[in-house]
Formats: sequence, structure tokens, C-alpha cells
Amino acid sequence: MVPLPFCTAIVELTQAQGEFLSSLPCAGLVVEPYMRCSLEAGHRGRHVTLAQGSSMTDWWATWGTEDIHGEFLVLPNCSITEPITEDACVLPAEHVGKHSFELV
Ligand SMILES: [Zn+2]
Ligand SMILES: [Zn+2]
Repeated sequence: MVPLPFCTAIVELTQAQGEFLSSLPCAGLVVEPYMRCSLEAGHRGRHVTLAQGSSMTDWWATWGTEDIHGEFLVLPNCSITEPITEDACVLPAEHVGKHSFELV
């Protein structure tokens, strides 16, 4: 069996957090009450995943084992692209672990 390439940590949003994300002017995503980490399995540091975004602003959820509801930050995107396919990495800048195009 091949292990999953993704971290499986889950953040559980409170109702207030869900309302906050849905009320953002850039809201383009349906806010789910649970979100899964987008980083490589076994990464160090805090978990992170895209919580809400548009072409202008991306809000990222970041959480750890002690703060299961996490917090939200606006972060720039990782600017690395795959050299052959030119797929852009969809993780925030300075993320840990592999780039998103290396995880498929
Ligand atoms: Zn994680
Ligand atoms: Zn990257």
C-alpha cells in the first residue's frame, strides 16, 4: 500500500469562523465546516489549507494540535511552478514540505 501523500489533519471551524469566511468580500469558495491540511504527509510545523479566496486575496487556515479551530491569515502564494508542465504550486509562500504539484 502506498501511503497518502497528503497530511490528513482536520481543522474544525466554529460557526463564527464559518460566517466570517462566508462574509468576506472576496468569498468565492463554499465554506465547509471541516477542512483538511494541504501539506505533505508528516510535515513539521502548523497545518495549513486554503480557507477562502479570490483572484485578489487568499485567506489560509492554519492550526496546530493545541488550537483545533485554528486562525485565518492572508498569505501570498508560493511562486514556484513545475518546470515542465508549468503547474503553479497552490500552497502559501514559504510553506514546508513538497510543492502541491509534487503531491499528485
Ligand atoms: Zn498538516
Ligand atoms: Zn510551493
